[in-house]
Amino acid sequence: MKIVVGHLYPDYLNIYADRGNIAVLARRAAWRGHDLEVRAVGVGEELERGEHDLLYVGGGQDREQALVARDLAAKREQLLAAVETGASVLAVCGGYQLLGRFYRFADGEELPGVGLFPLHTIAGERRMIGDILLECDFAPGGKRTLAGFENHAGRTYLDADAQPLGRVVAGFGNDGRSGYEGCRVGRAVGTYLHGPLLPRNPWLADWLLEQALAHAAGVEPTALEPLPDELEQNAHAVAALRARDRGGRF
Ligand code: GLN
Repeated sequence: MKIVVGHLYPDYLNIYADRGNIAVLARRAAWRGHDLEVRAVGVGEELERGEHDLLYVGGGQDREQALVARDLAAKREQLLAAVETGASVLAVCGGYQLLGRFYRFADGEELPGVGLFPLHTIAGERRMIGDILLECDFAPGGKRTLAGFENHAGRTYLDADAQPLGRVVAGFGNDGRSGYEGCRVGRAVGTYLHGPLLPRNPWLADWLLEQALAHAAGVEPTALEPLPDELEQNAHAVAALRARDRGGRF
């Protein structure tokens, strides 16, 4: 199968090697005989209806977010339609914030958001930096952990009925207080976890691929055959240990 990925603003939103997430998706798809075709979507470029099976947006400093926020907000209807028709989404940090309703800087300036995720973000004084570990239970197979690295000034507040991505085991997470991290709306996942995220969390990479393949084929998601992920599991274990050891401290 061919999986079409829309990479939003690769030139602006790509810090902490977030681009590496695409490389992992491409490799894990290829190991199962599938092709990943990545199409950059920049400022002023439209999202064609049904074109993408997966949409990806990385993180960025406030300055870069300010350069793309209005263009991204103008794509609101196209993005909501893509998710409504089953495309999956992975949004990391700055990209995650801009898929909420708004991101307000410490000086009060406000960047408009897409409103895909039922949340808003307000920048705080101190950055929340460090290793982070989450516990998630949305994927088949029960509870699993996600390990990564966070670095954000933004405090993200989920609406009461919103679904977080996971419970914070160690680290700051959305706001350093709620005990939750990220947000999930169906096949759309938003998170503060950099690293990049997917090399040390292969189960999430496969979950996203399963959703994207289902969209491409117009069928229900089915489990991909497992891969020998020793290296990935070791990287996960090391990151989880670091997070338990020192995550969530200013
Ligand atoms: N600029 C945003 C913040 O500081 C996002 C940072 C990022 O993507 N790492 O919160």
